[in-house]
Amino acid sequence: MMRVLAVIPPMTQLNTPYPSTAYLTGFLRSRGHTAVQEDLALALVLRLFSPDGLHALRASIEALPAKQRTPRVLAFTRDFERYLATIEGAVAFLQGRDPSVAHRIAGRNFLPEGPRFEPLEAYVDDEGGDPLAWAFGALGVTDRARHFATLYLDDVADVLREAVDARFEFVRYAESLAQSQATFELLAQALAAAENLVDGTLRELTLEAIRRHAPDVVLVSAPFPGNVYGAFRIAQAIKRHDPTIVTVLGGGFVNTELRELAEPRVFDYFDYVTLDDGERPLLAVLEHLSGKRPREKLVRTYLRDENGVRYVDAKEPDIPFADAGTPTWDGLPLDRYLSLLDMLNPMHRLWSDARWNKLTVAHGCYWKKCSFCDVSLDYISRYEAVAATTLVDRIEAIIAETGQTGFHFVDEAAPPKALRALAAELQKRKRAISWWGNIRFEKSFTPELCAELADSGCIAVSGGLEVASDRLLKLMQKGVSVAQVARVTHAFTEAGILVHAYLMYGFPTQTVQDTVDALEYVRQLFAAGCIQSGFFHRFTCSVHSPVGLHPGDYGVTLRPLPPGGFAKNDVGFIDPTGVDHDALGIALNKALYNYMHGIGLDQDVRGWFEQRVPRTTVPRHFIERALNG
Ligand code: SF4
Repeated sequence: MMRVLAVIPPMTQLNTPYPSTAYLTGFLRSRGHTAVQEDLALALVLRLFSPDGLHALRASIEALPAKQRTPRVLAFTRDFERYLATIEGAVAFLQGRDPSVAHRIAGRNFLPEGPRFEPLEAYVDDEGGDPLAWAFGALGVTDRARHFATLYLDDVADVLREAVDARFEFVRYAESLAQSQATFELLAQALAAAENLVDGTLRELTLEAIRRHAPDVVLVSAPFPGNVYGAFRIAQAIKRHDPTIVTVLGGGFVNTELRELAEPRVFDYFDYVTLDDGERPLLAVLEHLSGKRPREKLVRTYLRDENGVRYVDAKEPDIPFADAGTPTWDGLPLDRYLSLLDMLNPMHRLWSDARWNKLTVAHGCYWKKCSFCDVSLDYISRYEAVAATTLVDRIEAIIAETGQTGFHFVDEAAPPKALRALAAELQKRKRAISWWGNIRFEKSFTPELCAELADSGCIAVSGGLEVASDRLLKLMQKGVSVAQVARVTHAFTEAGILVHAYLMYGFPTQTVQDTVDALEYVRQLFAAGCIQSGFFHRFTCSVHSPVGLHPGDYGVTLRPLPPGGFAKNDVGFIDPTGVDHDALGIALNKALYNYMHGIGLDQDVRGWFEQRVPRTTVPRHFIERALNG
């Protein structure tokens, strides 16, 4: 039997494990394989942000020519002893292992304060009052301390960026080397460069994991472009150590960006690259490695042979979602994740704060129509539900394993029918959990259903309002109208559930008038208490979306993509409306930030724009009327 190690490469969020290895490990164990997992993203951060890590950072700084030592870096070396004395305490506090230190951190005379603390002074009121009272209220000592400890780590991360590796961030690492990079050239150069402190630490951690588990096969799951450089560095370390260990690359990045992979150099690092859900392709690879399956019978797998890169697909059906087993977090250090608190937006807090068990209610999206979405790809288009009893069995198994009852349902859009059944089953078993996740703001979320979901433990939902414009919502095939979103979000809010809206700008044919009107709708939605949180994304055209596949239907033409054989996802396009969306985006974000703090809700939306924009055509009480109608 093969020994399989699944790893999460740096970086992903640090408050909770990314679920891919948990799913694969649970599945492989359910099929009798010996499978273990490691989170090398968390391990990397914990090693760098430790006393040894700080000593190594200082050594790297001392090795720099004097003129490369920036003021921030020099300030760090001056305050080094204080950083050294506090790093373990700050990390243990953010891990929830030492809550009592909150009072000292919140008192602001414990941690050294670098430039990240400067914006706080802007909030001090005339009487010199509490700078964060507006965000945390009177009782939030722990939250306040968490925010300060996060700023403290951000300061050290800035020093690391300026002195060692400009590509380092807490949630992504060297993202630009991989994202929609048509050629492998940049990545190849970066991988051939001499190791810096971050690279060297990642190599040490990789080899420690290899020694600990002695795997025959290592699965590296890269969900995002910001994991890809780390994934290749891990594979490089493994192959240099022992080229007979088989390495496999998969995950969200591969599924979206490497569908036309033709770059042979990728296979200097990885033996196999698998597409879409990993379960079936991995079983096939493991059978092949044990001599039970010929290479020609692999499933959705790229490999390199004497003729170059080849894609092999025996076209076997995927493992049904109901048989994919229960994810397991066994082997991941659940008490070592960091509850960072950098964004004071309530929904972002859920993303970055506290540990949530991640689980999917269904596979894929039951709607699968939105024209900006990857609806041609398996992770969206193959919709499969499971019985609520199976789902709650999984929930109970996960609680028994982790001792934690908070769940983040990571579906792209959890179906209302399945959520209703889930709520009923939880009720029947008298099982108390807290949960949150993505939904569509569709009309089946009636006030009654919202109340049932709140009773079942739902604390927050997020959904796409995208561009708040009935014309554009129709063009997007979103299947909702602004009035309907108002009614549904209001029902959630009334049930005590926090509502976050994904907002978009720059969609094909979107005019300045559309943008002003969309912001007016958003203003009214905040003012009427329908939504409490939001985020504006700039529309990007994916080659897998209906807009990318049929640009003419959306009034745009695509720019040609450069050749290259590596990543392919975002594609440039020409929109004849010629609107400067970058400039408008600044106003949208400024307005939204203020709305989330209850500021400017009664102002004319034109006031947020630097440039002259037309008056809104939206009736002043549109949302109020939609709610009463
Ligand atoms: S955007 Fe969301 S609701 Fe629309 S098709 Fe994609 S996953 Fe489904």
